[in-house]
Order: sequence, then C-alpha cells, then structure tokens
Amino acid sequence: MSYIKLFFIIIFGYYENYMLAFSVLIVLCIVVGAFFILRAKDEYKNFRSICLYNVIWKWKYKKNRIVSLWCYCPECGNALLCDDEYCRSAVNMTNKTTFLICKNCGDVEKGRIVGGDRNYLLRIVKFEIQKRIKNGTYKNEAKHEL
Ligand SMILES: [Zn+2]
Repeated sequence: MSYIKLFFIIIFGYYENYMLAFSVLIVLCIVVGAFFILRAKDEYKNFRSICLYNVIWKWKYKKNRIVSLWCYCPECGNALLCDDEYCRSAVNMTNKTTFLICKNCGDVEKGRIVGGDRNYLLRIVKFEIQKRIKNGTYKNEAKHEL
C-alpha cells in the first residue's frame, strides 16, 4: 500500500484514496476493452468455407495464414479432383483451363476455371477469401457444412 501511495505521490505530488479506486477502474476498462478487441479481430476465423466457381472451398487458419485450401463437391461433399493437364500444352492464357471433377458423382465436371493451372486457381481463391476478410463481407457468406 505504501508503495502505491509513493507511486501516486511521485507522479501527481499527492495521494488520496479515490485515486487508487479510479486507477483500478481504468485498468479494468483497458483489460475488458483489449479482450473484446482481440476477440473481434479473430472473428473472421469462423469463416472457413465459400462457394466459388460453382464448388465449395474449405480451408483452415494457421495463425493468420490460410492453409489446407481445397475444393469440394457441392452435391456429395467429396474432395474434387483437379485436372490441369491442358494448362501445360496451352500457350495462350485463355486456353489454359482447369477442370474440377467429382469422382464420387461419376467423373462429372463440377466447375472449370479459365486462365491457369491449379496453383493459379488456389491463388485466386485465396485472394477472394482475403478480400472478403479485409472488407468484412465474409459475414454475409453462407456457411457450407458438407
Ligand atoms: Zn460429388
């Protein structure tokens, strides 16, 4: 107690009981405020799925990074096969097409992306996810629990 008194006397030149109560109140406000700010900052981590290019994309967060991003069949929920064989032979950007195929539904094409291979596709989807996290529109996205 005497140290606390000394602290106030050093800073303000004098000490009164209300100063201690007031300080405790301020510290409490800071702690509670920090708690809510930190929780709100991590709220986007509930955003783990999105529908893009007619298929469902799911991912996880490792710290702040998006990891294990992959696409799933909107009908049966199975992981899709990514066929980008055409990208290797195609010279023009517009000829590069990646097909998303569901083996479980009988080798049916569930989506296609023109412009690049699977790495290109994953980069684009990641970009779309990050964009929604940044501008807050991820809150409007429907959840896809398949
Ligand atoms: Zn399927």
